[in-house]
Amino acid sequence: MKIHEYQAKQVLARYGVTVPRGEVIAKADEARGVAERLHGGKGDGAVVVKAQIHAGGRGKGGGVKLARSAEEAEKLAAQMLGMTLVTHQTGPEGRVVRRVLIEEGLEVDRELYLGLVIDRASGCPVFMASTEGGVEIEVVAAEHPEKILKEFINPAVGFQPFQARKLAFGLDLDGARVNEASRFFTSLYRAFEATDASLAEINPFVVTKDGRLLALDAKMNFDDNALFRHPDIRELRDTNEEDALEVKATNYGLNYIRLDGNVGCMVNGAGLAMATMDIIQYAGGHPANFLDVGGGANEEQVRRGFEIILGDPNVRAVLINIFGGIMRCDVVASGVVSAARSLGFKVPVVVRLEGTNVELGQKMLSESGLDFAVAKGMKDAAEKVVALARSG
Ligand code: GDP
Ligand code: MN
Repeated sequence: MKIHEYQAKQVLARYGVTVPRGEVIAKADEARGVAERLHGGKGDGAVVVKAQIHAGGRGKGGGVKLARSAEEAEKLAAQMLGMTLVTHQTGPEGRVVRRVLIEEGLEVDRELYLGLVIDRASGCPVFMASTEGGVEIEVVAAEHPEKILKEFINPAVGFQPFQARKLAFGLDLDGARVNEASRFFTSLYRAFEATDASLAEINPFVVTKDGRLLALDAKMNFDDNALFRHPDIRELRDTNEEDALEVKATNYGLNYIRLDGNVGCMVNGAGLAMATMDIIQYAGGHPANFLDVGGGANEEQVRRGFEIILGDPNVRAVLINIFGGIMRCDVVASGVVSAARSLGFKVPVVVRLEGTNVELGQKMLSESGLDFAVAKGMKDAAEKVVALARSG
């Protein structure tokens, strides 16, 4: 799960990470009051107006602007609220800005980078730091990988003080700043660990002209499977920022992730779903989604899954690939038939069924009078569905 910058800053501040002073607003006429409060009641101090969307690259896209007065802050907030902001991370459709964060304007001396993620290769958290902050870190990683410092963290002992100091010295922070920076990094790691975050990124991490260290930007993602332990974080979810079909799928307890191909997939079991996506790709096609209806899905869930797949306008053909273990093929067949009856056959559907009650399931499909293409094995299924998606 992702959250907004202003929310990430609130979470981080609880663990002692220093962040700029600011307030989030949803109505432009609140901007003036916030800007004045940030400058002791005076209206002539600089503030930064920042669009809150779940995507980076806002600065370049016009979603981060400096206002020289409270009056200008209100004007900028009015422009930003309701606008569709397009950045390199939003895709061409962009995102509607529903909230803006108003922060004290800071005089920045250096822009650095900090990032904490789980490193899959080593199987542990890695703390990254770079002097090349404020820019796209992907570009730094591609062109100057040596400029990204990394400290791998043994989860059993946690982030060690010597690692914090090593990063601080690596960032060329002067002696007086090293202890403060080490405390900042340690707080960031504590927040990452305690909230079961999968990402905590500060870009830029700044040194101001008056020598303070602050998280000027903040991004946090959380492990969905750990959210049950963090009801306070779960509350920060903003479904406006999520794919509507994915939100619908979560509400039905389905594991659905939208992709950009045109072959819809309904599969039981995550492993089989992954294999199905691979074989579609191998047959020259592109999956439109990942959908695991689960090992023990009922007829209703199969129906909902089918409905969600067909809700994606890019889908040109559907592959239903079920191995009936705990799940019985006749239950799947009856869910698919009832879904196809009520939703209509908008696109061709290929079915590959195997396992418990397979004969009964196949009989139900063929006797339904609906035009399913029945496949023999996964390879045949993938080839059939890819050909149908192409011609459809
Ligand atoms: P992003 O583009 O979505 O990553 O948004 P950021 O929060 O990182 O802001 C983009 C850039 O705006 C930063 O890299 C800074 O250069 C600049 N910026 C943001 N806030 C301030 C501020 O208070 N003072 C100054 N001088 N620059 C700022
Ligand atoms: Mn940023």
